[in-house]
Amino acid sequence: MPTNIDARTDLRVARETAVLAAVHLPESRFDPADPLGELRALAETAGATVVGELTQNKDRPEAGTYMGAGKLEELKGLCELQGAGMVIFDHDLSPSQIGNIEKVLERKVIDRSELILDIFANRATTKQARLQVELAQLEYTYPRLRAMWTHLERIVGSGGIGGIGTRGPGEQQIEIDRRLVQKRRNQLQRELAEIQTRKRREVRARKQDHFTVGLVGYTNAGKSTLFNTLTAGGAYADDRLFATLTTRTRAWDLGGGEEAMLSDTVGFVRDLPPHLVASFKATLDETVHADLLLLVLDVSDPSARLHHETVTETLDDLFEREAKAAARAKEEWREPARVLVLNKVDKLPDNAETLLWLSESPDAIAISAARLSEEQLGALEARVRAAMQGEIRERLLTLPLSESRAVSTIERRAEVLDRTYENGSVTLRARIGDRQLASLRASGARVEVREPA
Ligand code: GDP
Ligand code: MG
Repeated sequence: MPTNIDARTDLRVARETAVLAAVHLPESRFDPADPLGELRALAETAGATVVGELTQNKDRPEAGTYMGAGKLEELKGLCELQGAGMVIFDHDLSPSQIGNIEKVLERKVIDRSELILDIFANRATTKQARLQVELAQLEYTYPRLRAMWTHLERIVGSGGIGGIGTRGPGEQQIEIDRRLVQKRRNQLQRELAEIQTRKRREVRARKQDHFTVGLVGYTNAGKSTLFNTLTAGGAYADDRLFATLTTRTRAWDLGGGEEAMLSDTVGFVRDLPPHLVASFKATLDETVHADLLLLVLDVSDPSARLHHETVTETLDDLFEREAKAAARAKEEWREPARVLVLNKVDKLPDNAETLLWLSESPDAIAISAARLSEEQLGALEARVRAAMQGEIRERLLTLPLSESRAVSTIERRAEVLDRTYENGSVTLRARIGDRQLASLRASGARVEVREPA
C-alpha cells in the first residue's frame, strides 16, 4: 500500500497541489458555466494549488467508490500527469468510500466537508471559534482517519491508555479511539462553556486605533479578488497586533491620508452541511467587531437573491446576540455599518439586473472586482471614508499635553483650525467626526469636548 495514504492523519490542504473531482447527479446544483467554480474558490481559500479538474455525470453514485471505476482510473492518470498530491471531492463521502477511492488513486482524498472544516480551522481566530471547529472535526473528520489515535493521544494525553501506539489496528484500537474522542469532546465542551466574556475586550482593545473593514459574502463572490485589488502593495497587518482579528488583514489606503484595515473573511458556503453550521458561525465572530462590512454579492449568480437574504439574516442574528452579550457585560458596542457591493456586473448581459438591485438598495455600489474602474474604486473609498468620519462638526477639544499620542492622532485625522495652549493643556478647534471622537475616547484619551460658542 502506498505510504502517502497515511497522510490522512493530517488533512491540511495548504500548499498541496490538488485535483478537483465531482460526480454530478440529476439533483446536483451547480453553475453550468463553471461547475467547479465554488469548489475551486474553496480549495484556493484553503491554500491549495488546483492543477486539474474532472467531473462525471451519473444517475446515481457508485456504492463503494461514488465515482465509476473507469472515471477513477482517468482521475488517477490526471493526478499523475499533473503531479497532484491530493484529490478534493465536491460532495461528502463516507469513510469507506474515501478508503476505497484512496486505494485506487494512491493519494490523499478529502471531501467537501473536510475541506470546509480545514478552512474554518485556519480562519478560526478566537479561542471559542477554534474549539467550535475542533468539535466539528471530532464529530466528522476523526472517524474518517485511519490512524487517528496518534493525533488524539498527543492532544488528550495518554493517561491510563498508555502504550496504544504499539498496537496494530483492529477492534481494540477502535474502542480506544472512541474513548479518546469522547474524552476530548468533554474537554472541549467544558472549555467552550468557560470562555465567553474575555475575548471581546481583547479584540476591542487592539483595534481602536484603526478603522476596520470586513469583507463578507459567499465563497466565489469575489471577496479575495477585491481584497487583493484594494490592498495591492499594502502591508499585511502586524500579526501580533491583529492576532485576534484575522491573519488576512491588510492596510487599505483610502487616499487623503486615511487608511483602513481590510479583512478577507471566510465565505458563506452554498449548501453548508448542517453539522458545520455552528463552526461556520463561530468563524464569523470577528465580524461583530468590524466598523464596517462590505457585503460582496455575485449578482451574476442565479442564487444571488437567496445569498443576499442568507447573509443579511445571519448578520442580523449575530449582531442581535452580540448586542445582548455586550449589554450583559455592560460594554459599549456599535453594530458595524453595512455596504452592499454588487460584484461581477460585467457578467450580466445588460444593466437591467443591476438597476433593479439599485432600486431596491439605493446605497449599493456596483463593481467588477476583477477589473475595478477608477470610478468604482472611488465610490468604495468615499463610502468607507464617510463611514469612518461619521458626522463631522466643529468642536473644541481640550487635552493635557501629556496626551501627546491623542493630540497627534487628532492632528492627523481631523482638520485642526486653531490651537490654544494654557496650564499644561491644549485646546484644539477642529472639524472632527463622531466616530473619530468615539475611538479617541475608547482608546482612553483624556479629552474634554465642547461645542464652539
Ligand atoms: P471569494 O471566494 O469570494 O474570495 O472569490 P474570489 O475572489 O476567489 O473569486 C472567485 C472567482 O470569481 C475567481 O475566479 C475570480 O476571478 C472571479 N471574479 C471575481 N470578481 C469578478 C468580477 O468582477 N467579474 C468576473 N467576471 N469574475 C470575477
Ligand atoms: Mg476568498
